Amino acid sequence: MPIHLLPEEVASQIAAGEVVERPASVVKELIENALDAHARQIVVRVENAGRRAIEVADDGDGIPQSELALAVMRHATSKLQTAEDLFRIATLGFRGEALASIASVSHFSLVSRPAHQSVAARIRVDGGKIGTVEVVGAPVGTLVRVEDLFFNVPARLKFLKRDQTERQQIDALVTRYALAYPQVRFQLFHDGTPIFQTTGNGNRREVLAQLYDVEISRQMLEVEYEDEMVSVSGFTSPVGLTRSNRKEITFFVNGRWVQDTALSTALLQAYHTLLMVGRYPMAILFINLHPEEVDVNVHPTKAEVRFRNPDRVFSAVSRAVRRSLMISNPVPSVVPPS
Ligand code: ADP
Ligand code: MG
Repeated sequence: MPIHLLPEEVASQIAAGEVVERPASVVKELIENALDAHARQIVVRVENAGRRAIEVADDGDGIPQSELALAVMRHATSKLQTAEDLFRIATLGFRGEALASIASVSHFSLVSRPAHQSVAARIRVDGGKIGTVEVVGAPVGTLVRVEDLFFNVPARLKFLKRDQTERQQIDALVTRYALAYPQVRFQLFHDGTPIFQTTGNGNRREVLAQLYDVEISRQMLEVEYEDEMVSVSGFTSPVGLTRSNRKEITFFVNGRWVQDTALSTALLQAYHTLLMVGRYPMAILFINLHPEEVDVNVHPTKAEVRFRNPDRVFSAVSRAVRRSLMISNPVPSVVPPS
């Protein structure tokens, strides 16, 4: 085959594959957009494990009618101007790819209304083909509905796991974001049934109790650490509360859920010799550092990050967790003879 440029549609479907792997990735991108838009309330509705539909509604800033068509185009973003901005990124999104990617592999619609508009506007995109913008009635905020994900990429559909697995991935995602943003009210529905919700009152331990049960949440140790470069906060389990895998270990870096084995290793280091072989702690840790200390543009889904001083971050995590474990379980001191 001679060299040829791919048609735009094919190119964007390939690009979509990097951002949108499964229903949970759609939920992640839409939640991040809502958070970037300062939403105080986010409602996630999932139908048929996300295969039939995924809907995310927020009460955030909204998108002006005149910008709707841009919002669903690739490399269109309101969050970044120059490549240098990448190193002071304060928003969760910045690539301007998510909506375009999602819309290229689904039947997509977005209704949005900023506070200064008296009516909302809706745009539809079908498998990447952008439709016209219509005026509709809707409250301030944004509602995105994604139907029939991967309807035009059957190969992707085949890679989806059982409904239960896809649902669990969505649940894990929504609950973790609810923990990371306790001041935002989250609601999650599967096929109309409420699954999980938070009050948005800012109390993280309350969210933890929603996520696990009251007993586990009561036992979880608070982590609170800060040095000149990095702060580490959140919860970690006492040595008596373990799991058989690492699934309950979660890290957020600057408000973004990341998957980083090196961070997990740093956490495990803190438990070194305290846990039996094959047992793992439960933890949800929030690492915050100056945006210049992290490169978030390593991976299209932004699930991986690169630290400028990885060793200092890892040792901060170890130290932070170690300290919480010590406080909860002090080294027994010699009892003075009476
Ligand atoms: P990115 O988040 O990387 O900028 P997206 O494709 O996810 O790219 O979104 C494109 C743009 O659409 C965003 O920059 C933002 O201006 C706008 N947008 C998307 N979702 C929302 C939302 N829920 N509320 C307000 N604006 C939004
Ligand atoms: Mg985005």
